[in-house]
Amino acid sequence: MPAVTPQPADRFDFPLDPARYGPYVYGVSGPAKVDTRYGVQNPGLGDDGKCFVDVSGHKVPFRLLYHAGEDWFLLDARRQVTGDAKGHPVRAIGNGLVIGKQDIGSQGKIVVIEHLLMDGSHVWSAYWHVDDVPVAVGSIVYRGDAIGVVADQGGNSHVHWEIRTWFDGTNLYPPTTAGGRGTCNGRVPALGYTWDDIPARAVPGYWGYLDPAKFIRSMNNDK
Ligand SMILES: [Zn+2]
Repeated sequence: MPAVTPQPADRFDFPLDPARYGPYVYGVSGPAKVDTRYGVQNPGLGDDGKCFVDVSGHKVPFRLLYHAGEDWFLLDARRQVTGDAKGHPVRAIGNGLVIGKQDIGSQGKIVVIEHLLMDGSHVWSAYWHVDDVPVAVGSIVYRGDAIGVVADQGGNSHVHWEIRTWFDGTNLYPPTTAGGRGTCNGRVPALGYTWDDIPARAVPGYWGYLDPAKFIRSMNNDK
């Protein structure tokens, strides 16, 4: 356990400047048939199985999965993808404690921060595809602190970020909370998506994920 207590998160900012970064939206951001906003399914992602199996043990097509967070890219004024976000600083969205850090190889690293809210409850923010992470598990961070840079994934360089209302303190994706039957090699279960055979249980809200952009805006307006 850490010896210091993190400051409550009294205000939140985006991990990247929302004027310059944001989700890729098909028809607006470029030609790829994907939408990287929270909660959406992407027919353009095809039939390959990704991380989830159905009741019969068959892999669930990627196009059926629901996005549990948002993928933010570098955008121009018309919200079209422009250039490459690699190397750009990624910032803690609020005061908190670094509680998770995981290397996912060529896709960079995942950082998880626990935030104590003013009402005494907690939420967790997770940032995927980050490199050069200067903070360790147990580090206190403050809103706006750099927690790394956008990892180099070529033209696909982006940060997937999530807000969740759960974290068991040990596993990034405990089997009972990962979003149904997610396994993904047993290494990084769920990979930022949710799914279940029962439609009402398939969506990220069921598994305790919040719409991250909406969360930040509502927290700041509620003050
Ligand atoms: Zn994502």
